[in-house]
Amino acid sequence: MTDVDVAVVGGGPAGSTAAYAAAEAGADAVVYEKGVPRDDRERLGPDSTDAAGFLDYWLDVADLDVEDVPEDVVEQELVDAEFIGPSERVTVDRTGIDSDYEHFGFTFHRAKFDDWLRERAEAAGARYEAGTSVTGVDSQLSGTGHEHTLHLGDGETVTAEYLVLADGPQRQVTMRVLDPLLPEGKQASEVLSPPSANHIAYQEYRRFPEELFDDDSLKFWWGWMPGETAYPWVFPNRDNVARVGLTMPIGLDVEDFDASEWRLLREDDEKIPSGSEYIRRLLEELYGDEYDVEADFPLANGHGKSKGTETYPISSTRPIESPVEAGIAVAGGAMGTTSAFHEGGDHVAHRTGLLAGRLAAEGRLEDYNDAWHDAIGEELKRNVAMADVVSDFDPDDWDDTIHVTREMLAASDDGQIISKSNARSAAGGLKLYGKYRKTKFGLRKGRYAQLRESDYSF
Ligand SMILES: Cc1cc2nc3c(=O)[nH]c(=O)nc-3n(C[C@H](O)[C@H](O)[C@H](O)COP(=O)(O)OP(=O)(O)OC[C@H]3O[C@@H](n4cnc5c(N)ncnc54)[C@H](O)[C@@H]3O)c2cc1C
Repeated sequence: MTDVDVAVVGGGPAGSTAAYAAAEAGADAVVYEKGVPRDDRERLGPDSTDAAGFLDYWLDVADLDVEDVPEDVVEQELVDAEFIGPSERVTVDRTGIDSDYEHFGFTFHRAKFDDWLRERAEAAGARYEAGTSVTGVDSQLSGTGHEHTLHLGDGETVTAEYLVLADGPQRQVTMRVLDPLLPEGKQASEVLSPPSANHIAYQEYRRFPEELFDDDSLKFWWGWMPGETAYPWVFPNRDNVARVGLTMPIGLDVEDFDASEWRLLREDDEKIPSGSEYIRRLLEELYGDEYDVEADFPLANGHGKSKGTETYPISSTRPIESPVEAGIAVAGGAMGTTSAFHEGGDHVAHRTGLLAGRLAAEGRLEDYNDAWHDAIGEELKRNVAMADVVSDFDPDDWDDTIHVTREMLAASDDGQIISKSNARSAAGGLKLYGKYRKTKFGLRKGRYAQLRESDYSF
């Protein structure tokens, strides 16, 4: 007899949703969240990364009804996203994927979204302990069952029949739990190692001049800064405040890049610029001729994590399957579902949490890997394929791709964007389309997962 049926490590979207689903299905569930202080939240809560945007079809992937989301969570409804290369640009006004949501997407307040997910879990009967770290887990596995003992920061222990690991991209608990179940050369701490598997992200909340604030469009600058899938963005919040952020791989060496090729590098850079320096350069490049960036785009205090800024790790790996026979499910960023291509991950975190919690409560966790492949496999395959295709792009490649995308969009008359007939209408379109299709084909049958269930033994 264990203390609880389902114990969840980490109270972000994946963990809160797992606890909600488990409690809804009648299980005794508890979430342990180490608790992160934020300027935009009064109590301790999860480490809510606030570059939060949802595209229309992500609601379906998440299995989330926007009608259920409280109104104050949504910041802006979006009509499009703009992709800006060194000299080309394209405005994309549809995802080309079927969805019931009537807009292109929306931006949202991540701390409020996470608070709502927590309250939903608590209302369903789950316990959410914010301010309690999990320091380790001992798993007792036998042919007949499994029991997990969680060691908590306050010295207490709790036992659970099922364990959901949702500790996000740092995966400190996940790696320690999975390593003993994996052979040499396939250790979770190698394939999921945060410094090599993750990107770093930084963002600032800046108040924009009224005439420059675009409240219904996301903006991404591709081919402006070096590094695999490294790019800055602007996401609109409310009241002329936008999140100006960027993501890049960890540990880049400036010597590996020709500064004259990248708009946000300078010839005298002795190291890769910091996140704040990159953002200052982006704003200077865009508006410096007519505006005083520091005075006219002030940092908006009270937003985000601390003093209007946030720094985060972001998981950019391929996903892993879970050792479900051991009663363990890994969900969300911890399992590497966040896209290395576009950073989207709340939708897949929500869905994997939902599946893990429900299946654990029903005593059917062995179905979890099949269930998440069915639910989010297409999305993951698409994202992994896109990340692979663009992995070594230089600024010219980005310009070419943006140009091709613009022509494909113009040719699209059935709503779809990525299709062979659209590709035919763009010079260079078929080549790019062929590369994407071939990469995607190579990822079929779950090959986008870097650890398979059969890799585990115990
Ligand atoms: C800059 C940036 C921009 C992004 N933009 C978007 C976007 O626009 N749209 C989108 O959908 N996604 C976006 N994402 C991705 C999204 O934030 C993640 O995919 C999502 O947060 C994953 O949810 P999760 O619950 O798996 O992990 P997390 O949200 O990381 O939650 C994990 C939780 O576990 C807790 N924890 C960790 N270790 C322990 C421990 N030992 N004990 C107890 N608790 C622990 C942490 O405090 C944290 O709260 C972005 C990410 C970044 C960094």
